[in-house]
Amino acid sequence: MEGLAEARKRLAQAQRVAVLTGAGISKPSGIPTFRDAEGLWKNFNPLDYATPEAYARDPERVWAWYAWRIQKVREAKPNPAHHALAELERRVLARGGSFLLVTQNVDGLHARAGSQNLVELHGNLLRARCEACGKRFPLPEAFTPPPLCPACGQRARPDVVWFGELLPEGAWEKAEKAFAEADFALVVGTSAEVEPAASLGRIAFASGAYLVEVNPEPTPLTPLAHLSLRTGAVEGMEALLAGWS
Ligand SMILES: [Zn+2]
Repeated sequence: MEGLAEARKRLAQAQRVAVLTGAGISKPSGIPTFRDAEGLWKNFNPLDYATPEAYARDPERVWAWYAWRIQKVREAKPNPAHHALAELERRVLARGGSFLLVTQNVDGLHARAGSQNLVELHGNLLRARCEACGKRFPLPEAFTPPPLCPACGQRARPDVVWFGELLPEGAWEKAEKAFAEADFALVVGTSAEVEPAASLGRIAFASGAYLVEVNPEPTPLTPLAHLSLRTGAVEGMEALLAGWS
């Protein structure tokens, strides 16, 4: 595969690498998606759980759903694709380059795999945020929902971005800058349909980056990508990093 050889060569030499990941990278770790939840939660509708309105109406129900997801995330482990991205970062930094990993996932698996330069666009399930004073804090291993703020004692909510909410301050700007400056951009395990994350690949392409996509299905980015690997995240990362020592 000539395209793959070229992509490997580019990646081995790239100085500014930007990566975007989505749910597809956490699937091999067994993280349930909204679609999985539809099978497990009766009459499940994401809008009943992941909006500020749903939380205002029934915080206990929303917390029960998040407590279930938090449990699933704690049981999960980073998979070889998460580890490959942490290794890629170490190599790019070791040769004096820059690296940013932007994820739409809220499972915290990239950090657990050792990724350092990381933007979690949609927040993190394992953190809560005080509704009164705004303090963010890691959720303890065992807690009774709703958790209370360690600073002021008021109720805290999941520290994730719900439908209709803004991204965390500065997160989008940082992601956009990294993709605009990248000489190599990689998009893994996302259908590239959710905005604004979907536009990061287009920004990198428009700025002249070499763009590689790893996704089992074609996406709106496919026509722009220099290489599209029609595989799962683990196989795709193995193919891209094969032969590195
Ligand atoms: Zn507080």
